[in-house]
Amino acid sequence: MRGRYIALGGFVAVALTVLAAGLGCARPPRTRVVILGLDGLEYNALHRYAKDLPNLTKLLAEGAHAEMEVTTPIMSPILWTTMASGYPADVHGVGGWTNGQGRSFTGADVRVERIWDALSADGRKSVVSGWLMTWPAGIIRGQLLSDRFVWTLPMSRDEDQDVVEGHPQVTTYPDTLATRAAALLPDQAWLDASPLAYQVKEYGAPSHPLRRDELHLRVFEALWPTSDAEFGAVYLNGADQVSHIYWPFTEPEVQREIRLDPGAHKRQVDEILRRHPNHAMPPWGETGLTSDHLGEAAQWVPDYYRYLDSVLGRVEAVIGPDTTLLVVSDHGFQVSGSKPLVEGQHRGVAVFAAIGPHVKAGATGKVHVYDVAPTVYALLGLPAAADMPGKVATDLFDVVPLAPIATRTLERGVLEVGAGASAGDQALKSQLEALGYVDEDGKPLSAIGESRRKMNVVADPNAAGGTTPEAAPGSPGGAGPGGAAPPVGTPGGATSPGETPRRGP
Ligand SMILES: [Zn+2]
Repeated sequence: MRGRYIALGGFVAVALTVLAAGLGCARPPRTRVVILGLDGLEYNALHRYAKDLPNLTKLLAEGAHAEMEVTTPIMSPILWTTMASGYPADVHGVGGWTNGQGRSFTGADVRVERIWDALSADGRKSVVSGWLMTWPAGIIRGQLLSDRFVWTLPMSRDEDQDVVEGHPQVTTYPDTLATRAAALLPDQAWLDASPLAYQVKEYGAPSHPLRRDELHLRVFEALWPTSDAEFGAVYLNGADQVSHIYWPFTEPEVQREIRLDPGAHKRQVDEILRRHPNHAMPPWGETGLTSDHLGEAAQWVPDYYRYLDSVLGRVEAVIGPDTTLLVVSDHGFQVSGSKPLVEGQHRGVAVFAAIGPHVKAGATGKVHVYDVAPTVYALLGLPAAADMPGKVATDLFDVVPLAPIATRTLERGVLEVGAGASAGDQALKSQLEALGYVDEDGKPLSAIGESRRKMNVVADPNAAGGTTPEAAPGSPGGAGPGGAAPPVGTPGGATSPGETPRRGP
């Protein structure tokens, strides 16, 4: 009976394929999909620097693209987990960088299947490189380089630099990938020859994002061609990091203001440091940024975008035209409302662009961050779940989704959001500082505290003056496994990787 059923299914599939081919609208049941995730990529910059970004410009012109609405709080760990799973924070379990009581969120908190988990269960492979909240590296079909792999490497030219010893065996899957990936770390000669060498020199190699981003890309380049994977995900955060600090200088109004009033920048820096004595010294903060240095300051963001444009070209070369490529960000950038001359801050409009099979060339529209996973599931020929809030982006894709299953949650979790004001996880704080992670207001040194404060507002409905996020996390006191599972192998012996970020002259 079963054999006959399969035979019949095969016949129907062949018949449909022949029929579809005959009609000139072949719709294979599934296609390979790669997501290039570029944290903080901003549409306005893509337009502003279009002539220097041939690959990104071609992607927008020849593929489909949309402004992507995202949820608040606009925090990268939440949003990248939403994109990979289709679920909001209160369901997927990642509430930000830390839980407000000093414990950092990790992949161990994720309570839902992500795309690579669903594919693995279906017997199909993925290649995942650097995606946020993938440490500790889970067992998947395929290969996974977790976001904390880079924590295990000396990232600077200083060979004595401390690294996180922790549990290096869970930074990749399979374990052997760690050795292979370490050999791909860009060396100093490569950094020195890069057009971004001036930034790396200024910022320090461990802190500047180029080395990490290039590593994540190289690992994908090395693995994808021989992997026979059907899904790939690469995550680079350099645009976010550079934009937090250098975005204002790209804005014509800011440039005009600094030219008209050469002391304006210095006055704003002094005011910030007076109010927040622990704030990192902004670039040119000691002398003030005058029109003399405006040209150099304005180059940081566009130069990094040029690198990302080359990244896109390399990804396209590796995957070829028969794979559907999505290029997405989790938010854009704008000048800070409170410190417009000194810092950039997240903007709630993200990039969503696609090219390849099933993409409606030239289509535009709007998508929501919730739509990413359902759309990828449709492209892969896997069912999304009925309890996902998003939908397939049919304005941009010619694809018919399978009927959804009930859920892709693994276990109902309550988002763990602390209300305490504890000192926090010093190791994580050091790491975030050294890696350049900063909160949405661009305060590198207070990233944890600031994030915690925002999440506390969320957690405490009686707190005044807070914004109410769309993805309101569950009550911290509620029942559920939110805090039950300890993070696997939190790097207890973590130490600062050495250099503190240098931020401009
Ligand atoms: Zn981000």
